[in-house]
Amino acid sequence: MLNLILLGPPGAGKGTQAVKLKEKYSIPHISTGDIFRKNIKEGTELGIKAKMYMDKGELVPDDVVIGIALSRLCESDCEGGFLLDGFPRTVHQAEELSAFLADSGRALDLVLDINVDKDELVRRLSGRRVCKLCGATFHVTGMPPQKDGICDKCGGELLQRADDSEETVTNRIEVYNRQTMPLVDYYEKMGVIAHIDGAAGLENVFSEITKSIEA
Ligand code: AMP
Repeated sequence: MLNLILLGPPGAGKGTQAVKLKEKYSIPHISTGDIFRKNIKEGTELGIKAKMYMDKGELVPDDVVIGIALSRLCESDCEGGFLLDGFPRTVHQAEELSAFLADSGRALDLVLDINVDKDELVRRLSGRRVCKLCGATFHVTGMPPQKDGICDKCGGELLQRADDSEETVTNRIEVYNRQTMPLVDYYEKMGVIAHIDGAAGLENVFSEITKSIEA
């Protein structure tokens, strides 16, 4: 059983590390952002509601997010562990998660707090391109696809996420600092947090993370 949380500002590389962690430890990757984006694509009521907040870089209200995240954790594939990415994002969400885990006889093993400075976050997010079909991520200068605008993996079209525009990115980072940063303190007090330098390069970051998990 391995119960993990990836914490860190947008653009810190949580999604990229999650793909590798999921494979290495065979635990499901649960991204509330991905759940919302899937609902937006399908045009569900939840998607329509979430989109209003996401497009502005604001958080979707706690009463919407908490139920979705906790019911996902009740699914059978989470019995052997889970990797939460983008949840919790407020102290209230974290408290509800703690109560839920205690009720279901589970505990957090580690919160990985990935840090990257603001200029680098803006650079990463505003240059990020995502495949419309398979979700693979590229960067216009840092990790360009072989053919402009086309996914190397599946040939799908590469798009910019609506919330990766420069002005929305700045707001998302401010929202993170204001609403999510207090979680660092919350998990510090619980003694379950590890701080990771997210600027160290993809493989180095991954190796730091696995060292912390296996310590
Ligand atoms: P992400 O893909 O994690 O960057 O999430 C994209 C957007 O989805 C965020 O900017 C929020 O608007 C929304 N979102 C995702 N997870 C949460 C959460 N735990 N609480 C509130 N809003 C969330």
